[in-house]
Amino acid sequence: MTGSALEHRLQAGLEQVRAQNLYRTRRVIDGGHGARIRVDGRECINFCSNDYLGLAADPRIAEAARAALSHCGTGSGAAALVSGYNHEHRALEEALAEFTGRPRALLFSTGWAANLGVLRALLGKDDVLLADELNHASLIDGGRLSGAHYRRIPHADVAAFAAALAEGAGDTSPLRMIATDSVFSMDGDLAPLPQLANLVQQHGAALMIDDAHGFGVLGPRGRGAVELLTAQGAVFPDPEIYVATLGKAIGCGGAFVAGSEALIEYLIQRARSWIFSTAPPPALAAAARRGLQIIDQEPEHRRRALANLQRFRAGAAQLGIPLAASQTPIQPLIVGDAARALEMSQRLFEQGLWVAAIRPPTVPRGTSRLRITLSAAHRDEDIDRLLDALARVTDSASVPADLAASTV
Ligand SMILES: *Cc1c(COP(=O)(O)O)cnc(C)c1O
Repeated sequence: MTGSALEHRLQAGLEQVRAQNLYRTRRVIDGGHGARIRVDGRECINFCSNDYLGLAADPRIAEAARAALSHCGTGSGAAALVSGYNHEHRALEEALAEFTGRPRALLFSTGWAANLGVLRALLGKDDVLLADELNHASLIDGGRLSGAHYRRIPHADVAAFAAALAEGAGDTSPLRMIATDSVFSMDGDLAPLPQLANLVQQHGAALMIDDAHGFGVLGPRGRGAVELLTAQGAVFPDPEIYVATLGKAIGCGGAFVAGSEALIEYLIQRARSWIFSTAPPPALAAAARRGLQIIDQEPEHRRRALANLQRFRAGAAQLGIPLAASQTPIQPLIVGDAARALEMSQRLFEQGLWVAAIRPPTVPRGTSRLRITLSAAHRDEDIDRLLDALARVTDSASVPADLAASTV
């Protein structure tokens, strides 16, 4: 008999998750990542990756890692402040600073660690954090861990941010900071960065953005959400604290914070998730630096990702598939019910199309969805196959059969 108090609690907890259709399992990938992928023993087209440019499988990046492996071995051996700071780490940090147009950058092991480290280091209990309610879990946890007054602001509600900032007006000693995803990871929409950046400037507050899904992909030169909005005509000051990850468009792993000299030096002294953590393998830094170079020199991957996005949205509009507004490779189809999202995802998978069902607590209750992500590595026919299958699995009674068939 399994009788421990812990086992009882675990079994009851698992049962509850199962009963709510929120049970999660993993599928096993064979071989590398990519738009075509072997999963649980079968070939399928991958529409649930954050590898937006198809770089995770780029042989040139693997080669950079291999070269660094023969030169530096595997592990970095220690935290960066002890003896783990390799010349590969420094070269990547310099490249990231240059790429982002900021004085300095600091490499973290993960985006999760970066957000926790930054928020806990910069905010104290007298400070105020204004956080968009749809922020990534790592920003939420980092904000809570910081001990600052945590104000959850309705999604992208500029007036609510302004009102919350106005409340503390005149009170200059506590730091007031807005933290937001620049591209919301489950919705694909952009934060109102121009308005938020102007607000913090007016109020003497600070702005931290998490550009995990913008970096490398958005903007004419892949500099991310700020560059995209600027290219669309917005004029606003650069956010003071810039976080992005290297595991998505860059196709590697890790994350970084970019900002002023003082910001980075302060984090080196105070960011606990950085100080007390082993530096990432030097080969990973070498790989990420190669990925960054490719992003800098080869705009065709971004152009291709954008073309795929346009093809998908145009096709969906024609078929009456109700996509949310999003100009990024994250294209959610809101379904509502968790069981239904799961069933749709399963039906797509049976047709060789891998699309993740996203359920609470990742998204608010009643907004379960298919989170479709597009990549530069998708071919036209991949997109058309997805559209055709989506038209079949959605309640598209209104879609004329001949229209649906014409996209095959
Ligand atoms: C993926 C993600 C993170 C976490 O980054 P990891 O490197 O995967 O830990 C942080 N913020 C956002 C918005 C993300 O999408």
